[in-house]
Amino acid sequence: MPDTAPTSWPARAEASSFFGFTDLPSVRERGTVVLTRGEGPYVIDSEGRRYLDANSGLWNMVAGFDHAGLAQAAKAQYDRFPGYHSFFGRMSDQTVMLSEKLVEVSPFPRGRVFYTNSGSEANDTLVKMLWFLGRAEGAPERRKILTRVNGYHGVTVAAASMTGKPYNALFGLPLPGFLHLTCPHYWREGGPGESEAAFTARLADELEEVIAREGAETIAGFFAEPVIGAGGVIPPPEGYFQAIGPILKRHGIPLISDEVICGFGRTGEVWGCESYDFTPDAIVASKALTAGYFPMGAVILGPDLADRMQAASEAVEEFPHGFTASGHPVGCAIALKAIDVILNEGLLDNVRALTPQFEAGLARLAEHRNIGEWRGRGLMGALEAVADKATKTPFPAELSVSERVANACTDHGLICRPLGQSIVLCPPFIMTEAQMDEMFEKLEASLERVFAEVA
Ligand SMILES: *Cc1c(COP(=O)(O)O)cnc(C)c1O
Repeated sequence: MPDTAPTSWPARAEASSFFGFTDLPSVRERGTVVLTRGEGPYVIDSEGRRYLDANSGLWNMVAGFDHAGLAQAAKAQYDRFPGYHSFFGRMSDQTVMLSEKLVEVSPFPRGRVFYTNSGSEANDTLVKMLWFLGRAEGAPERRKILTRVNGYHGVTVAAASMTGKPYNALFGLPLPGFLHLTCPHYWREGGPGESEAAFTARLADELEEVIAREGAETIAGFFAEPVIGAGGVIPPPEGYFQAIGPILKRHGIPLISDEVICGFGRTGEVWGCESYDFTPDAIVASKALTAGYFPMGAVILGPDLADRMQAASEAVEEFPHGFTASGHPVGCAIALKAIDVILNEGLLDNVRALTPQFEAGLARLAEHRNIGEWRGRGLMGALEAVADKATKTPFPAELSVSERVANACTDHGLICRPLGQSIVLCPPFIMTEAQMDEMFEKLEASLERVFAEVA
């Protein structure tokens, strides 16, 4: 190695790794953080610094970073049968058991499960399923996919096309036929004097208009997160799913609930669709499915789509799609344990128990004159920074306010995430009340510091 070779972990990371979804000017100024281990909701870096991770890693490490039962489930399965695929009519016993479990805990009376390695791949898989169905059912023009601005569905080509974020233009995406409806964010998108109910009605009218304009027979599906996550934690306006659900049903358009964040307890119910009282035609799951201990995604088809996919596949002998590691036995063993831990070892109960404290903490910080609104559901929440509260005027983008708050938090030993002008919190389900107090204290100190600099 030349003398100039970097020696510290952060410098080595910067020299040899390519960072995605990373603000490079911040990294240049502050360096990278290399994590080496975790304890409960805390992570510890190569320099020995300890951070309370208020984002559960990337929304997924809901059982914390040292759950012995999850590690044991992985070890036991590695010892028994360390890997297999799900092609050619073969699959592992763990895969069979996980499919049974997912259908059991799903809102569907019956259904079928297909596995991927990520949430993005699960969304791409479902898009391919809907396209496959259209052709099989004599409706090859039924290909368009509807989603919402700020909806986040992942980064693979179809999932990125579904994601309603401006950065996708940097890739020349979306592909044709991916249409984005208005973001269902009442505080930001509601018109002057428009009630929340009127806003919901306007979004439903927009959906009707888009269907009429495009032709229902050209639309393959509507994908929505119950609460938009990576788009800024945006719960729908009152009555939203009750307004759009019947429209989609009337036009025969499947409603897909992208539960990659909401699924397995985040909103205080097992599924976000239960929190918002609607039944989708299929569910996309990932993230908390394995509590973040294994990369895995799943498409859970409800009865109608399951039957139609089965018939369409039989007609051409197979559904020619799948990943080498689809239904990986170790991932399935971990997911079975994770679901058990969440549902039966008190994690979901703790989400419900902590929600009032979480909401009260957000509401208190939202009294600050530079916080425009707090929003959230269960243990996902956001605070949106504004330069002027009355007019909801954002800070100039070049001030990077949320980035600065997140950096100040890191200095205080707290990890939280900047998203647009918002700060996002998504604590692990194992958090204690004392840790939640610590989270809000550190966040408040960071907000004070940054607002004193910029406001
Ligand atoms: C994270 C996320 C995805 C993408 O999952 P990956 O595993 O990162 O590919 C899809 N949908 C939603 C709602 C997500 O939050």
